[in-house]
Amino acid sequence: WAKSDGKARWTLFDPERNAHRMTRQSLSSSLRPAVERGEFVLDYQPLVRLEDGGVRGVEALVRWQHPHFGLLTPNRFIGLAEEDGSIVQLGRWVLRTACRQARQWQLENPGRPPVFVSVNVAVRQVWDSDLVADVADILAETELAPELLQLELTESAVMGSAGRPLQALQSLSDMGVRIAIDDFGTGYSNLAYLSRLPVSVLKLDGSFVRGFQYDAEAGEAHINPADEVIVEALVQLAHRLGLTVTAECVETTSQAARLRRIGCDTGQGWLYSRPVTPDRISALLAAG
Ligand code: C2E
Ligand code: MG
Ligand code: MG
Ligand code: MG
Repeated sequence: WAKSDGKARWTLFDPERNAHRMTRQSLSSSLRPAVERGEFVLDYQPLVRLEDGGVRGVEALVRWQHPHFGLLTPNRFIGLAEEDGSIVQLGRWVLRTACRQARQWQLENPGRPPVFVSVNVAVRQVWDSDLVADVADILAETELAPELLQLELTESAVMGSAGRPLQALQSLSDMGVRIAIDDFGTGYSNLAYLSRLPVSVLKLDGSFVRGFQYDAEAGEAHINPADEVIVEALVQLAHRLGLTVTAECVETTSQAARLRRIGCDTGQGWLYSRPVTPDRISALLAAG
């Protein structure tokens, strides 16, 4: 019967799939204790003013130093953490650690304009936890000014956000915390809708910048010239609605030049820096 049912059997016993499932299970069951054991770390990636290359802020990006699997990037575990709810605990740890770090950078660099920290917030943190109280507590505890905290939410977290989520966004914004829409352009939200929410920053998804017009000299792979037109229109519209715009995944100088010409405010990407450890950011700030 093995022959006639070859395909189904393969699916059932595929060792790679099985290993994958076991990894998922084992990761999922160790998420909660891992938060308590302190197995997570934050890297930070500079958010750079396109005009002059100055560092305005940093985005905190979580990594898991797993005892068996090594250093795991968030794509491996954030989805699981959302599923099993441990994202609430992990998210609180990320917020506290990032705010404490931002305050420390401010104290280390007196007389310089302080850099803000931008923290990713999962849908479930907005819906299932008391995000507003957590943020208020953490800001008080770390003595970080609310203006130095930015929260990144995806479109799906704010879409149709009547009731509780909208109230949360409003309270955070009233507190002085900035709200950014992450990966903008990948979902179905529109600017007209977003402009009615207390949102002040759009982070254009990396796919737009990747599609910028081909530059043979810079060795760029050509994708879609229409993206540049779309980004230009989005930036203009966003500015007229009082939003600032950050571009993700800026990898080449020609992409940065185009974004600057278009009037995009901030850029983030490998051209400036990969996500790095906090001591590298300290060195960068001390030098700049
Ligand atoms: P994101 O918030 O859109 O973060 C940007 C991602 O793009 C990061 O991946 C970053 O390393 C990567 N990146 C930055 N510059 C470039 C570039 O020039 N080229 C390319 N190809 N990639 C670039 P990372 O660190 O693997 O994070 C992936 C996602 O995981 C994040 O996407 C965010 O959605 C999520 N995430 C990270 N940290 C947290 C967290 O603390 N909480 C939650 N809820 N989600 C997080
Ligand atoms: Mg982000
Ligand atoms: Mg993003
Ligand atoms: Mg992204």
